[in-house]
Amino acid sequence: MTVYGLYTDLPKFVDYRNQVAKHPTKRFPVLPMSGKTMIAIHHSLTKIGQSGSNALGYSRYHVNTLGWPGIGYSYVIEPDGTIKFCNPINWRTYHVGNSNNQAIGIVLSGDFRTDKVTEAQKVSLRLLVDRIKKDQKQVKTVKSHHEFPGYSWKACCVFNYKQILEAAIANPTPVKPIEGGKYTIQEGDTFWALRRVKTLR
Ligand SMILES: [Zn+2]
Repeated sequence: MTVYGLYTDLPKFVDYRNQVAKHPTKRFPVLPMSGKTMIAIHHSLTKIGQSGSNALGYSRYHVNTLGWPGIGYSYVIEPDGTIKFCNPINWRTYHVGNSNNQAIGIVLSGDFRTDKVTEAQKVSLRLLVDRIKKDQKQVKTVKSHHEFPGYSWKACCVFNYKQILEAAIANPTPVKPIEGGKYTIQEGDTFWALRRVKTLR
């Protein structure tokens, strides 16, 4: 069975479905992929670095406090750019009310009334939106939560997502020169950066 939205070819992409909290019995309805035509962008409204300001924290809140089947988003983009895949994109998860049937939910961790979207989050958001649109041609509309019907009052996602999506995808990580064919792992290196080095060889 196809798992829609599982793009393990993307850098910093993690299948996080077994890490997030899930309701013991409730399940999100599964819809035909053809009906998913939009992407809704959110922010978590929790400050970067605050305890629980991550995919696990949102899933616990949605399941344990709100009684939902699972986390309400399909993807969580953390401040370091990690894309956590939490629910297949054809599921009717809860994030934009009446538009849940059509919209795929992406949340960026942070309260962007005061926090700043990190460069890593920008790169990952661009790559992810591009990847979804390439894979699912019917997905044509990308909007912020507050641009959906009934949500003009909502301070979500607050940041200028259009500007982020329109910017060219920059080389995400500077690649260090390789001396003698060996690469020494240094503090701050990510798996992502190392993979890029390998590819360039
Ligand atoms: Zn939102």
